[in-house]
This record gives sequence, structure tokens and C-alpha cells, in this order.
Amino acid sequence: MKILVVGSVAYDAVETPAGKRESQLGGAATYFSVSASYFTEVGMIGVVGDDFDPADIAMLQSHDIDTSGLVKADGKTFRWSGEYMEDINTAVTLDTQLNVFGEFEPELNDAHANAPYLFLANIDPNLQLKVLDSMAKRPKMVANDTMNLWIDIAKPVLTDLISKVDTLLINEEEAKQLTGEDHLPDAAKAIIKLGPNSTVIKRGEYGATLFGENFSFAAPAYPLERVVDPTGAGDSFAGGFMGYLASVDKVDEESLRTAAIVGSTMASFAVEDFGLDRIKNLTKSDIDERFKAFVDLTRFNPLT
Ligand code: AMP
Repeated sequence: MKILVVGSVAYDAVETPAGKRESQLGGAATYFSVSASYFTEVGMIGVVGDDFDPADIAMLQSHDIDTSGLVKADGKTFRWSGEYMEDINTAVTLDTQLNVFGEFEPELNDAHANAPYLFLANIDPNLQLKVLDSMAKRPKMVANDTMNLWIDIAKPVLTDLISKVDTLLINEEEAKQLTGEDHLPDAAKAIIKLGPNSTVIKRGEYGATLFGENFSFAAPAYPLERVVDPTGAGDSFAGGFMGYLASVDKVDEESLRTAAIVGSTMASFAVEDFGLDRIKNLTKSDIDERFKAFVDLTRFNPLT
């Protein structure tokens, strides 16, 4: 197993200008795993309730995702309900029900604990920290994501966690909320001061900016004519980003730059349909073609 991920596995109720879904498979770890599965071997740590559809496990397994760490508990699967009616780039949370995640104690087997890449997808930072602490040794690379809820209610433990990771992936608004800085480069600097040596600040349809200690890199979002459902764009970005790094097994400036474009490539698919409907059905050539379109989108000649 190259990447281990912990994070939410959910049923989401989502409303966007393109329509409404009452209960669709979602969750940060789900989008991440499916996206990363196109590049490398992924294992998930998480919990689902007794309402979880076996067809959803089968879909994950059809992507060769190791679901041995996805336990089934009595109760309901995590539920999130949100809408994107005012602004397609910003999810407004209507309701969050932790359900089985409220009591979850992660247990890692040997393969999980020895994974060289670890992604702590969005979930309670106490749980993210427990998984990091359960690793057999410090993975080669650890990255995490979070959201406003955890900044609001669990900032001290979240800050402790961030001090231990290599890369924080976070939305622009949340980066500003976390650091108290209004200006993007200042927020990135403040994040790097907390401990990570790079951070990816995600800006919805305006793309994402990767900041390292001595460089920054702008990855655009693909200019799609129609965004159907932005849910999972961030996690799909992270899946492409980490999936690529794990597949080349290298974390340096050049590979981080390419990883950011692979992340944008995967995010662009995620938003083309509701839930995982598009991203779960990709071919290698879909991904190669879209990646090439990014090369074209950002190609320019030096000034002479
Ligand atoms: P994003 O990639 O940021 O659009 O993440 C979307 C996913 O995050 C949804 O499928 C939700 O189930 C999940 N989610 C929403 N709120 C939370 C939360 N508080 N903790 C963990 N996961 C969440």
C-alpha cells in the first residue's frame, strides 16, 4: 500500500444550480481514494454505518482500494448536507451529523501502519492525529486537509497536527481564518511557519496556488463550461496530488509542481457531475488528455 488515507466517508445531500441529490456517496476520504486510485495503491481508514450500501464498497474495491480499514459500526453513516446556490465556489453547510464517526477509534494493520504516504483528509483533527501517531514510522510524506468547522471548534489540536505535516491543503477562506492573515502569500507564510514545508491553497474555479519555502506555483482550474457539483473537488485534487507524488515516489519542487497540475486535472473531472459519478468512471486516456489540455492552457513563450 503506497498511500493511507483517513477521513470522512459520507452520504451527502447536495443542492447546486444544476440540481439536487438527497443522499449521494461522498466524504473526503472517498473522493480522495477514488482519485488517487488512478495513480497508485490506496488504503482507507474510516467508519460507515449499517445503512452503508454494499454497492458503494464494491465500487471502491473495483478501483483496487484496500477497504480493510473501513469498519462498519452500528448506527448511521456520517451525513453532510450543503448547497452552492449563491456562489458555486463556496459550500454552505446546512447540516453535519458525525454519527458513527463520533465514537470511532482507528485501528491500523501492518500494511496501513507502514504506508510511505499518509493523507489526513478532512475529519476531526483528534482522529487525524491518532492515525498519524499509529504509524509504525514517520511516513515519507504526510499531508492534511481541514475545514472551517474544525478551525472553529478544535484549533489547538489542529495547529498541533499541522506542525507535524509536510503539506497542508486548505481553501483560501480557511487559510485566512486559520492564520488571521487577509493576504494569500502572508497566509501561506504563516502556515509554513507553523511547520509544513509547503501548502496548497485552493481557490475553487480560480485554481490553486502551491507555496514552498522558496517558490510558489499557480495551477489554474480547468475552464469548464458547466460545473455540476463542486463537492469533492478539493479531495479529488488532493487524491491526484498525492497519487502522483506516491507514483513517482519523489517529493521535490518539480514533482510538487506536476502534482498540482495532476490535482487540478482530477478536480476538473470531479465537478463535471454529481458526487463521484464522473470521477469513478475515468480511463487513463481521459486523464492524459485533460492533463495535456492543462499543458496547453499554461504554455507561453519567454519574452524576447
Ligand atoms: P470538498 O472536497 O471540500 O468539497 O469536500 C466534500 C466532502 O467533505 C463531502 O463529501 C462531505 O461529506 C465532506 N465533509 C463535509 N463536512 C465535513 C466535516 N466536518 N468533516 C469531514 N468531512 C466533511
